[in-house]
Amino acid sequence: MSGRLLLATNNRGKAKEFQTLFARFHYEVLTLQDVSDDFDVEETGDTFEENASLKAEAAANHFGMMTIADDSGLCIDALGGKPGVYSARYAGEEKSDESNIEKVLQELREVPDAERTALFVCCLAVAFPGFKARTVMGTVHGRILHEKRGANGFGYDPIFFFEEEGATFAELSSEQKQRWSHRANAMKKLETVLGSWMKEVESDEFSRSE
Ligand code: IMP
Repeated sequence: MSGRLLLATNNRGKAKEFQTLFARFHYEVLTLQDVSDDFDVEETGDTFEENASLKAEAAANHFGMMTIADDSGLCIDALGGKPGVYSARYAGEEKSDESNIEKVLQELREVPDAERTALFVCCLAVAFPGFKARTVMGTVHGRILHEKRGANGFGYDPIFFFEEEGATFAELSSEQKQRWSHRANAMKKLETVLGSWMKEVESDEFSRSE
């Protein structure tokens, strides 16, 4: 099977990572920017799986091609899993990384080091036109620092301390982050199942959407 695959994101960086992953499947990876100016799906789900699936199914049906969508975020144990699916807009709809980090640090100010454990989560949903999406999850464990360290990456990277490298995600090079990140882990999982999912769709063994 070969052809075109839509990545339901406007993020060029993510698109590049997926292009590498899909090279062996001989798929040309398009992003929303390649196919539309104004396609957007509201993230109304309560879970990463719901949001990723919503996006993937809507885009697959609208554009008539296999689509991959992702939803990711940071889950902090001491905050009962928050910011979770609200990670991008935790401090407000303007989606400011700075304000989000400030809010988290403020909420954790009384929490001792040992209890500042956290998990980055990435859910990837794959949808084919007319079929229900399927998902894989990737995670990575870390600890939230008391202040920011490092200038690379994005989002909560400067306060996410990763024990294995003895550094925050914002102190890692992009190659290092690629090796360890929740997104990379989700992609590795996807790589192991995607071939058989494609075969199931071809032989109509996938669940169809209602
Ligand atoms: P989305 O996957 O683009 O919806 O991202 C959701 C939000 O989760 C981002 O805006 C970030 O705040 C946070 N996030 C997701 N992945 C990462 C990461 O790799 N580093 C830092 N923050 C992240």
